[in-house]
Amino acid sequence: MWNGDAFLDTLVVQARLQRENRAQSEPTEQKKTRLIRSLRESLGEFELTEADRPTMLERVECDGFIRERVELSAVSGLTFGAYILIPSKPSGKLPGVIAVHGHGYGSRQICGMREDGASDNGDPDVYQHFAIQLVKKGFVVIAPDVIGFGERRLESDLAVDPNAPNSYHTLSTHLLMLGKTLTGLRVAELLGTLDYFARRPEIDSDKIGIAGFSGGSLIAYVAAVLDERIRASLLIGFPNTYQDSLMAVRHCLCNYTPGILMQAELPELIGLIAPRPLFLESGDADPIFPAHGFTKAVQELKRIYRQANAEHLIGFDLFHGKHEISGRYSFDWLQSVLAKGEQ
Ligand SMILES: [Zn+2]
Repeated sequence: MWNGDAFLDTLVVQARLQRENRAQSEPTEQKKTRLIRSLRESLGEFELTEADRPTMLERVECDGFIRERVELSAVSGLTFGAYILIPSKPSGKLPGVIAVHGHGYGSRQICGMREDGASDNGDPDVYQHFAIQLVKKGFVVIAPDVIGFGERRLESDLAVDPNAPNSYHTLSTHLLMLGKTLTGLRVAELLGTLDYFARRPEIDSDKIGIAGFSGGSLIAYVAAVLDERIRASLLIGFPNTYQDSLMAVRHCLCNYTPGILMQAELPELIGLIAPRPLFLESGDADPIFPAHGFTKAVQELKRIYRQANAEHLIGFDLFHGKHEISGRYSFDWLQSVLAKGEQ
């Protein structure tokens, strides 16, 4: 009798029982240390660039803000571009946000541009040009190009198909074979982005937050777990349980981290950000990060924040929509916890 489905289910249940057993005897601080260590190990290590020498590529006056483009390097042998959006009339040092895109054509998509760099004056797509919305709220914003999309697709993929939408498959498979992950690489570059951003003269380095959508939210939460300089996190179109999202719906390879389900479910990992401010946002009709999983994640994270005496620092919004950004409450929340310093 063919029983492959039952076999897989059993393995997943065994992992859950193992996690629950361990939870009964493990003190909170010990668990936190173990989870951060195992997260680091699962993601794989990368050799970091020693001296970061950013190159300024352009500086353009836009409507109400200045847009710079710089070339950075965080991982040895690899460079990447990032847009920096600065309010036109800054007064003193400003709070900053690292804005992280997921699938699509790269940082231009969240910075009000089309793929070719021309201004996108049409209706915004699922990203709602959110980096522009944030600079207009008074933040300095940095939007790095996440590897695998837009300008950062691999030549080898474009040689096979000049219109290849992304390179996550080639990157993920190669990195997995080398004991590394695409998430690990992307997070290393995000932390390099943070190093650079925190040194910018316009920035109040005590008031840096991160905001990501979908795959951008995945790497945003990991960066926030690993680096406490990130004071507030806004996670959109991603917070969920593994059980209800990655394990129930077909997702891209970017999302899978070897062995992590033996250590924790996703809400516990996101909970490592506690007690720093955290906002969770999701569409009620998101087909790949379903609402019932989002609701479970919110409940578990509220419990974790309550335990850390920080329940007032967690917010959430389940808005009416699909796999997309709303921002109806979350952008103002980010402003209240960073700009006004309510931490
Ligand atoms: Zn992906």
